[in-house]
Amino acid sequence: MSQQENPKYLWWNHRIIPWEEATVHLTDYWWASVTAVFEGIRGYWNNAEGEMYIFRLEDHARRLEQSMQLIRMPKEFTVDEICQATIDLVRANDYRGDVYIMPLAYAVGNKAFSVVGDRTTEMFIYSRPAVSRLEEDFSLHACYSSWTRINERVLPPRIKALANYRNSQLASSEAAMNGYDTALFLNPEGKVAEGTGSCVFFVRKGKLITPDITSGILESITRDTVIHLAREVLGLEVEERVVDRTETYLADEAFLCGTHAEITPIASIDRHEMKHGAPGPITRQLRDIYREVVYGRDFRYRNWLTPVGMGVRAEQ
Ligand SMILES: *Cc1c(COP(=O)(O)O)cnc(C)c1O
Repeated sequence: MSQQENPKYLWWNHRIIPWEEATVHLTDYWWASVTAVFEGIRGYWNNAEGEMYIFRLEDHARRLEQSMQLIRMPKEFTVDEICQATIDLVRANDYRGDVYIMPLAYAVGNKAFSVVGDRTTEMFIYSRPAVSRLEEDFSLHACYSSWTRINERVLPPRIKALANYRNSQLASSEAAMNGYDTALFLNPEGKVAEGTGSCVFFVRKGKLITPDITSGILESITRDTVIHLAREVLGLEVEERVVDRTETYLADEAFLCGTHAEITPIASIDRHEMKHGAPGPITRQLRDIYREVVYGRDFRYRNWLTPVGMGVRAEQ
């Protein structure tokens, strides 16, 4: 990334600072990243209104607080502060397009693995332009990874931690080496878990099916959004349950979902093609509804959106 492409500001430990000033010593770097928990949040630019809407900001801040609690990090930041800091940062960087926002909390102190004791929590929030793909028709070919999904006995998948991504990295690299676009994970019981950074849905006989919350998945906010929209807008039946690998080979449609992935249609799994194509008709409908919701054009779900107030520039 070139210097010009860096955002002007980021937020670090209670204040907005110029990008260049956000440095840590090299020897602190990996100690901090071992403990790091984070969030991925999107802001959608509504051009007609000249406004940026941050999607489910408070839910993301609450999940970050949960991750920090589960890691036993000293509590230094409140949900309210994280929300306000995110709004202030996006406004300061003065975007006129969709953005991705990443708050990341980490423990600093005595360089021991335990975060208990002589430790404090630090946090930064970073934002960058990230164009939505919700207008695009595209799809991915997926495979089941030979790597097993992390689980509650080893690295709890419920915690959104940087360290968990070692698991995803192995699966993504393997998938790419074998000529696939993306990977799906099975859990230690051999049941379907999720993607490499997204949850997964299948459509079968008009019903939406997704692995339940104890299948080794992250408690995804997009997954929750999709369940709401499927039931409330499309009147679909949604099953959250244990899902078999072979069952997914017989699916009519499949898609990944996540803040970063948005709604990503899957064309095939282990070269079994989805019967209704990709994006299939239900995937397409859900994607279109999701798009109208996140941009604030569907007024039924405006309570999920936080307007940044782009008309008003932040004071520096
Ligand atoms: C962030 C993430 C997701 C998606 O969660 P959202 O809340 O929808 O963004 C799914 N799986 C993993 C492993 C993740 O880290």
